[in-house]
Amino acid sequence: MVANLAVYIAVIMIFRGLLRFLDISWPLERYLSPLLAALLAGLLYYYKFHVPNINVRIFAFSSLFSALCLIAAFGLSKYRQESGRTAIRIVAIMFFLVAIFHLFRALWTVFQVPLYDFMKTGWVSTLSVATSEFIVVLTTYATILIATERQQHALIKMARTDSLTQLYNRRTFEEYCAVEYSRTCRSKSTFTIIMSDLDHFKWVNDHHGHQVGDEVLKFFADILRNNVRKQDVVARFGGEEFVILLPDTDSEKGMIVAEHLRETTLSTIISTDDGSALTFSSSFGVAQYSDTDSEWTAVLSRADKALYRAKQQGRNRTIRV
Ligand code: GH3
Ligand code: MG
Ligand code: MG
Repeated sequence: MVANLAVYIAVIMIFRGLLRFLDISWPLERYLSPLLAALLAGLLYYYKFHVPNINVRIFAFSSLFSALCLIAAFGLSKYRQESGRTAIRIVAIMFFLVAIFHLFRALWTVFQVPLYDFMKTGWVSTLSVATSEFIVVLTTYATILIATERQQHALIKMARTDSLTQLYNRRTFEEYCAVEYSRTCRSKSTFTIIMSDLDHFKWVNDHHGHQVGDEVLKFFADILRNNVRKQDVVARFGGEEFVILLPDTDSEKGMIVAEHLRETTLSTIISTDDGSALTFSSSFGVAQYSDTDSEWTAVLSRADKALYRAKQQGRNRTIRV
């Protein structure tokens, strides 16, 4: 009786641990599983000490264990994240199959002659012990697999993004540009690079502090991110310099995008902690790929020159070369 209850509670703890690890919230389960465990304890106690009957105890255990495995399978089917999805599906299917097996065992017991020794209840019961162990091994394996996969994802993300703005970093931008350059060389398409640098940003830091400066960088990153197409690549190039790669785009369209970004930046008001409202501007340089470019960096270099001119001509403007 104790062993049966222990197995039951262990399985509840295993799949609950897994649900928590996977960030799956399911409030109903919090009450449902303990309720079934309490029902099982009551039935096992009654059919052990009041009306001893092994068949009914096996029936009670297996039908309630089947219900528990169905709950686990349903809970795990709520998993929507990308990493480890296959492993979780396999575990959910295994829980489902074990549920079916225990349902079969419960029904099978109904048609058996009355049993008198709990240790000699036949091959179906032996198999039922094996299924519980199988669940434990599989769940452990899946947990390790997902933890490793998550760590890998986190490391890749860290290496490719800028931690302050969550935009791509310079290295990732360079990778995208290299791929886009070779694609453009082979096809008849083109691409444009926009380079941008915040105006008088040193002044923002000096007057409002570095933390406000960081806030401004994050706001600007959001403006860039939210005003380009999905296929455009936005990155923080360094400090208060940002770059955008626009695939299949000529500089005329690039100018429209940059001007829109400049105007949006100018109309953005940031309220600082000290209660003042802060506005800021940025300058933009735009350059398009030319078939005489031997490397993609030639386009970036032209965008940089255009940006320099925008600064020289008084800032808060967009220049194309
Ligand atoms: P300009 O209009 O000519 O671009 O002037 P500027 O003041 O923006 O340019 P400058 O190059 O003189 O100053 C850039 C400043 O950006 C200096 C540096 O401290 C600041 N900065 C660079 N990275 C960060 C950062 O991550 N956070 C903050 N708060 N400031 C940064
Ligand atoms: Mg600047
Ligand atoms: Mg700068």
